[in-house]
Amino acid sequence: MNIASKLPDVGTTIFTTMSQMALDYRATNLGQGFPDFNTHPDLISLVSKAMQEGYNQYPAMAGYPALRQAISDKVLSLYGRHYDPATEVTVTSGATEALMSSFQAFVHPGDEVILIEPFYDSYIPAITLAGGKVVSVPLTPPSSDCDKYTIDWNKVEAAISPKTRLIALNFPHNPTGIILSEQDLDAIERITTGTDIILLSDEVYEHIVFNGKKHLSLASRKSLAERSLVISSFGKTYHTTGWKIGYVCAPEALTVELRKVHQFAVFTVSSPMQVALAQFMQQPEHHENLSAFYQDKHDLLLAGLQQTRFRPLPSEGSFFLLADYSRISDMPEIEFSLWLTQEHGVTVIPVSAFYRDPSAPDSNHQLVRFCFAKQDHTLNAALEKLAKV
Ligand code: GLN
Repeated sequence: MNIASKLPDVGTTIFTTMSQMALDYRATNLGQGFPDFNTHPDLISLVSKAMQEGYNQYPAMAGYPALRQAISDKVLSLYGRHYDPATEVTVTSGATEALMSSFQAFVHPGDEVILIEPFYDSYIPAITLAGGKVVSVPLTPPSSDCDKYTIDWNKVEAAISPKTRLIALNFPHNPTGIILSEQDLDAIERITTGTDIILLSDEVYEHIVFNGKKHLSLASRKSLAERSLVISSFGKTYHTTGWKIGYVCAPEALTVELRKVHQFAVFTVSSPMQVALAQFMQQPEHHENLSAFYQDKHDLLLAGLQQTRFRPLPSEGSFFLLADYSRISDMPEIEFSLWLTQEHGVTVIPVSAFYRDPSAPDSNHQLVRFCFAKQDHTLNAALEKLAKV
């Protein structure tokens, strides 16, 4: 039988592949982004209590009302923007479903979607399934003058055409860890004003930002919020990546269209988790303290890698940092990552996997991504092995 694949170029994700390799070789897994420690015991008790109390049937299609209210309250207090929980907040099956439903809702066949490369791996398949065309704009890589990636907004502006439907942004950025500045928001405002371009802002790492800096949400500016779908995920914030609960805040007109897809993609998401999250969110210290919690882990890994032949780049946010391995090898990134797992027992993610064509020379900068959402002893075990590379 001839199966005409809708995604002929897609294989298993790099995160699944590398985590399986880590298991096969019993390697220390600093690859796929998930914590190797448990979530807060109070949150687990709240889920169990919600189940005992009978929250086991379908919750509202757009999400458990008290959870939507808690999300709205948090966004108002952090970013000064009010989203109506009834019409402008939607609880989704992780940020992944939020992304998929958003692309399906807004991208028509032939529409162009601008992505800033490198980008998270689910974007292209989601856009492709909607019939959209990806237009990628590269981040400017680190150089001797600047040790971090930067965004050239003139290039983004130059990529805009009459067919541009949507620009997808993701800050704090996976994989580079860069965050947005006020100047970046100015530039986004400048290039989108007077257009019908929708902004999709994937802010799943909004609560993980280092060195006293602040996350700047697109929700924080009226002119941007008016055209934005702002996406986040409880997986990152409460160490519950396996629960797959995220959300989208967007103006009513955008939310109406998003929910048309959401209700037929998943209808709604797990009720006891939503009830528990609504209660847990009443203690803001859980997200307020997250940056400090991850700063220590970032610093531990950064300092440790500085003692090795890797050259780490500092990260401004997310639970990832990149490191250059050009003092160790000239292998392409995928090959190097396989070799590091097999020969040295540490699993990382090749940064080229976040490019459209991972094997192209332009996508290979001798960089790998380390995840530091790990217990200190896991990070120390990895560093001990990496010191021998
Ligand atoms: N977002 C996670 C990462 O970047 C992985 C999630 C997944 O495996 N789908 O590592």
